[in-house]
Amino acid sequence: MNLLDLFFPRRCPVCDEPVKPWNALICKECAQIPAYIEPPFCMKCGKHLNREEKEYCSDCAAHTHLFDRGRALFAYKSISSSIARFKYAGRQEYAAFYATCMANRLGVFIRECSAQALIPVPLHKSRLRHRGYNQAEALARELSALTGIPVMADWIVRVEKTAPMKDLSAQERQNNLKRAFKIRRNDVKLSTVIIIDDIYTTGSTMDAMSRELKKAGVKRIYFLSLAIGKGA
Ligand SMILES: [Zn+2]
Ligand SMILES: [Zn+2]
Repeated sequence: MNLLDLFFPRRCPVCDEPVKPWNALICKECAQIPAYIEPPFCMKCGKHLNREEKEYCSDCAAHTHLFDRGRALFAYKSISSSIARFKYAGRQEYAAFYATCMANRLGVFIRECSAQALIPVPLHKSRLRHRGYNQAEALARELSALTGIPVMADWIVRVEKTAPMKDLSAQERQNNLKRAFKIRRNDVKLSTVIIIDDIYTTGSTMDAMSRELKKAGVKRIYFLSLAIGKGA
């Protein structure tokens, strides 16, 4: 045990108490609570599907996405309060648990992507200042340490502060994000990337990011999301 652990014990991503045993990433009893996305899932966005014979969720069947495909780790409902603390209550340390689960559960998918970089969805700089860190970047950094894929966090930036998305329709989300992202460096050329985000809802953020990344010459765009809602 190092001194830091003694004074600032790691907190459990589920119950938020000092984790038991102290060297674990999650309490033994709490480890059962987050629900992993199980097959069958949408071939495009990774949402769990109710019926085996379908290939895509109703959203992906109806809309063309600009990314190739992605996977998500947890069913949103089972982990929503944990993610809220991760984003808004300074619990950056949860990233170690999330990334370990991602590497374990989605390792095959991650390897098959053969990506050159992990690209966390950026925060607007005023939001970053307020929050102190970008939760998607914290997750990407931990995942990078486990997979060896480098993080590229300053390549694409968020240039427009967007309204909170949770009360918007899919169309409103798209409009809201139209000019949200911008490639900032012309000296970088990548052909295959994985975008990292915390929550996938309609895919409008991934599409807006993908549009800008494609302009910069990226050919294959995958994503990993910590959590995702239900498919149909
Ligand atoms: Zn716990
Ligand atoms: Zn889908």
